[in-house]
Amino acid sequence: MTNPIDTNGTYYVPRSQTDKTTGFLLATLASGAIMKGLSVTGDIFHKELIKEQSNNNTYREYLNKAFDLSGLAGKGVNIIPAQYERVTFPIEAAGKNACYIPKAKKVVLNTDKISHAGFHELGHAMNDLMSKYGVKYLAKSRRAGYIIAGLMEYFAIFSRTKPKDSKRNLVDIIEDNCGKIAFAALLPVIAEEGIASYRGVKLAKASGLPEHLIKNLKKLYTKALATYAGRAVLGGLAVGASRIIMDHYTRPRKVELDEFFSF
Ligand SMILES: [Zn+2]
Repeated sequence: MTNPIDTNGTYYVPRSQTDKTTGFLLATLASGAIMKGLSVTGDIFHKELIKEQSNNNTYREYLNKAFDLSGLAGKGVNIIPAQYERVTFPIEAAGKNACYIPKAKKVVLNTDKISHAGFHELGHAMNDLMSKYGVKYLAKSRRAGYIIAGLMEYFAIFSRTKPKDSKRNLVDIIEDNCGKIAFAALLPVIAEEGIASYRGVKLAKASGLPEHLIKNLKKLYTKALATYAGRAVLGGLAVGASRIIMDHYTRPRKVELDEFFSF
């Protein structure tokens, strides 16, 4: 048996490598199973996106009007037509179908098929270039949010070398709350997505897009937002579950003194 750790008269033994490996495998499996739920909201959104392709020509016509009305051209924004199948998007892209690239001031989307996604992307461009500090800050903090949420996946799978009741430092506090932090880090993304959609629908209305298509647009954008919300919720749960499992398998085990000296 390994030498026990003495914490104020309570004894603990470090966990074996087998325990740690088991914990890691189970944590990875649990996290993967939880994140699979994300494909459900993603599929619902994509079906809606494809369904609306039948109205693409009308959407495209009004998207051009909306773009003229938005004043974004004066800010140096361009709409770049792209092939739906070929474009690989940055992580900020709305559901892998269209995106606004802030650095290049470009809205990239396939106007032959999914012009309906364009109003939302114009909303992103407005958030970036025509907003007061708060919304601008949200738009700029997206990347940080993703980085923090991603970092929490690592904090979730660290082995815990300290006993549960030992003094906690900053790393311990982050590890204890990594699920909540991963969730909270994506809240600015959800907020910015919601505001982009709100502005997109407002532009679509101003452009004169027929009422029934406004209704469809709202439906589509609600589903898009649900994928972002799902990502934050499931991501937080996956990170939290990994942490619980890793704690269970890697925290030094408390031993009674007579247990320790019984061999
Ligand atoms: Zn978006």
